[in-house]
Amino acid sequence: MSTSEHDPSNEMSSWPMGGVDAELGRLQTTYFPSLIEADIAGLLNDPILADTVIVSSFGAESAALLHYVTGIRPGIPVIFLDTGKHFPETLAYRDALVGRLGLRLIVTRPDTGTLADEDPHGQLYAVNPNGCCTIRKTFPLQDALAEVSSWISGRKRFQGASRAALPLIERDGTRIKLNPFALWSREDIQAYFETHDLPRHPLETAGYPSIGCAPCTRAVAAGEDPRAGRWPQMPDKSECGIHLGPDGHFVRGSATRNTKGET
Ligand code: SF4
Repeated sequence: MSTSEHDPSNEMSSWPMGGVDAELGRLQTTYFPSLIEADIAGLLNDPILADTVIVSSFGAESAALLHYVTGIRPGIPVIFLDTGKHFPETLAYRDALVGRLGLRLIVTRPDTGTLADEDPHGQLYAVNPNGCCTIRKTFPLQDALAEVSSWISGRKRFQGASRAALPLIERDGTRIKLNPFALWSREDIQAYFETHDLPRHPLETAGYPSIGCAPCTRAVAAGEDPRAGRWPQMPDKSECGIHLGPDGHFVRGSATRNTKGET
């Protein structure tokens, strides 16, 4: 979709948290007519989402979303944020899924100048994880999404309190964000893997149910919150910052200005 057809920035200057504009309202009415009806396939084929992309971490549950969405929209671009800090197993798994599913992969990386300025020794994650996520994930994602008006994430409600009310579609800054698996349970995901004989992330059986960058992910014990292994060096951090609120806007500046990663 071209910006000449729709310029969401014109209507998002005072976007209320949880608000629904005319565009979002039409999608909801058309594809989610009741609490128990969700036409995800219809939604993904709506003309307004013609330029949508998947953003995938190629984590433990990613194969299900990639298989599901590309089954509806073959050839849809899949963006991978290569932070430079991933487990080698994740990169190998990514390549295996690209081959298995025929994915149209787009790899985006942090700006080398920004890394040289902000994280010259590659250890910013240890002292300022929010700043590290900002320069290695958030900025590259914003660049990758610059030309699209919507994107697809793999988040689910069962992943924790901060995602408990996750909607199927929402505003993310000026874009529409789709969360096709928002209402799926962990059991639904596992069943999907088995039904379609999808390969597992090699670290999953080693106790990693949620997999991010290597320095910021640890194995979890049986019964522990699956996301408890993320950012163990910063217990109050649970998100990488790529999932903006409805009125989210980025202002670029020094990512290391403070330990909260405010820019
Ligand atoms: S998850 Fe860790 S290493 Fe990866 S970008 Fe965030 S702070 Fe940096």
